[in-house]
Amino acid sequence: MINESRRGGTQASEVFVIPAQQPVSVAVAGGGRFPVRRVFCIARNYAAHAREMGGNPEREQPFFFCKPADAVLSAAEGESLRFRYPLASQDVHHEVELVVALGAGGENLDAQAARASIWGYAVGLDMTRRDLQAEAKAMARPWDIAKAFDQSAPVSAIRRATDPLPDDTRVALTVNGKPRQSGVVGDMIWTIPEIIMLLSRYYCLAPGDLIFTGTPEGVGAVLPGDELTATIDGVGELYVEVVAR
Ligand code: MN
Repeated sequence: MINESRRGGTQASEVFVIPAQQPVSVAVAGGGRFPVRRVFCIARNYAAHAREMGGNPEREQPFFFCKPADAVLSAAEGESLRFRYPLASQDVHHEVELVVALGAGGENLDAQAARASIWGYAVGLDMTRRDLQAEAKAMARPWDIAKAFDQSAPVSAIRRATDPLPDDTRVALTVNGKPRQSGVVGDMIWTIPEIIMLLSRYYCLAPGDLIFTGTPEGVGAVLPGDELTATIDGVGELYVEVVAR
């Protein structure tokens, strides 16, 4: 609206009429900030998790959903985030995921361009109001209310890396020191370049976009007081404490 109004040309019309929000950004390992443009997520990208959610990994095409950029909760290196137990849910789940940060974009990317668009990697949590997701699924409604809530995307510092991650790179989560989720990048049904290629058929991808690449099996509920440690080999760690509202 502001940009449209600039065509009108008066100086006064160019002033923000409410305070403009700060750009969302994520810490970068070693220093600096990565500006976040959009947050894309792929669903059911590990076969064992697809089965635990009642899906069939052999037959399903991939599908995507989004979170708003300001759902991102950025951790500095070594920082423990405080995740407030969200509104309107009694069943909030953790999903540990590898996050890909894009430094380039475009539409209908080929495999080479998809690989070249990767700026770095981070550890993320796709926090999910599972009870609201179950209702949405039953009613054939969108997932936004289950996935796109405030603070629903805790993210570690981004590690600069352009090489593909080895297939045995482990994606794991403990809750209060007990193992809950574990898988390896090689278990992904759709590889990272494939995810980027697929997304670029639907969106003109851009620098600053984050992509959550799916979660391994073992998703489960969190409660206030829980301490989550998410780890990805060679990428980093993310510490989250769940606190009551
Ligand atoms: Mn997920």
